[in-house]
Amino acid sequence: MITKIIQEEKIQKAKKYVEKGENFVIVTHVSPDGDALGSSLGLYHFLMAYGKDCVTVIVPNEFPSFYKWMPGSKDIVNYEKYPDFAEQLIRDADVIFCLDFNEPKRIEKLAPAVVASSGRKVMIDHHLNPADFCRVTMSYPEMSSTSEMVFRFICRMGMFDLMDKNTAECIYTGMMTDTGSFTYNSNKPEIYTIIGELIKKGIDKDKIYRQVNQVYSESRLRMMGYVLYEKMKIYPEYNAALITLSEKELNRFHYVTGDTEGFVNLPLSVEGVSFSVFIREDSDYVKISLRSVGDFPCNQFASAYFNGGGHKNASGGEFYGTLSDAVAAFEKGLEEFNPNKIEELNKNE
Ligand code: 5GP
Ligand code: MN
Repeated sequence: MITKIIQEEKIQKAKKYVEKGENFVIVTHVSPDGDALGSSLGLYHFLMAYGKDCVTVIVPNEFPSFYKWMPGSKDIVNYEKYPDFAEQLIRDADVIFCLDFNEPKRIEKLAPAVVASSGRKVMIDHHLNPADFCRVTMSYPEMSSTSEMVFRFICRMGMFDLMDKNTAECIYTGMMTDTGSFTYNSNKPEIYTIIGELIKKGIDKDKIYRQVNQVYSESRLRMMGYVLYEKMKIYPEYNAALITLSEKELNRFHYVTGDTEGFVNLPLSVEGVSFSVFIREDSDYVKISLRSVGDFPCNQFASAYFNGGGHKNASGGEFYGTLSDAVAAFEKGLEEFNPNKIEELNKNE
């Protein structure tokens, strides 16, 4: 038995939508990661197994190729490629699941259609401060992943038996990727009870690890080498590290979506580094990824300097300006968010 985390009333309300709904849309955040895709596709397979014929996962933009093995990934509608079709589906939906994001801003161009749709909206998410735009808001930041919440949601509706291997594979992928393969945010014993149940559904967890983590191109690995050798800057006085990559550098290594995934974590393996930032120049903005170990609140840093947010130990943001301006903002932030002031910062939460 696992603990009942999600409020009963929310489960019952969402269950009614599941029972009565006909046209389902599942949306998730921009630049979907393993948890965004895992929770969405997990719920997708579950709804199909339950007997629903019209279920579509819609993403705001492209996702990395190393998630394309996931069952159902070929059926995902990418808004950037099919905006009219996606908007039509959202308009016609009677139920819209909003997974792994807490406010419309996080689905970018999809937001106006989702907000305007008369479909009943259900949020399942684990980010802080959920915005009030859904009829049912299941928001539990103590959960390691949205995928874990989808597992709990299915169980609590009394439909565990309908969970098939496809659902289980997707849920496991999200749980694994949002915890760095169970190396952070993963001390709750029930996570492993759930994994046990997923294995009983037939998943091969070792194979899933390989499919996500060991399928990179040669140029991606060389770019990682370049980053570590030439681009990693350590700030010992702040226990911090920075990596930057310009568009030109990315092109040199034939960058494709997903190639820089995980780079932000690399400096955290240096003893003493507890805060790491990766700044990547994109065509129309500069993308920032922030990670910490321990108490340093990356999300506060992201919201103060990079118009972003996320979790305490993993967050992100965007910067509109040059790469060097973004670096300057980071360095200014380091002075103001001196790690010696961590206790003070955490009081503001
Ligand atoms: P990543 O560095 O992998 O892009 O993002 C890590 C986490 O930070 C995500 O799971 C998400 O919670 C959050 N995040 C990333 N980018 C943004 C952003 O632009 N705005 C906000 N609010 N959160 C973000
Ligand atoms: Mn997540």
